[in-house]
Amino acid sequence: MIIKIKEKILDLIYPQVCGNCGKINVNSLCNKCKAELEKEFKFEVDDYLESEEKNFIEHYYFFKYQELIRKHILSLKFQEKPYIYKTISFFF
Ligand SMILES: [Zn+2]
Repeated sequence: MIIKIKEKILDLIYPQVCGNCGKINVNSLCNKCKAELEKEFKFEVDDYLESEEKNFIEHYYFFKYQELIRKHILSLKFQEKPYIYKTISFFF
């Protein structure tokens, strides 16, 4: 009970924002940005069975380290924006 009151007070002082656009959003990700990020998160497999350059035959990934994903991971790691984890974790 006391913890929930404390969280409510903190939310009033520091409201949760969308980690992508910065607008106030209780879910840390607004619908517009969610749709934008969903385009970058998709499960894919690269096949290297015929390749002589790679030492593996398949490569599985959920996103490529580029554009918005890269921007948010760098913000989380180096720009003192720990709240970004809520935005990114929405997809895992
Ligand atoms: Zn947003």
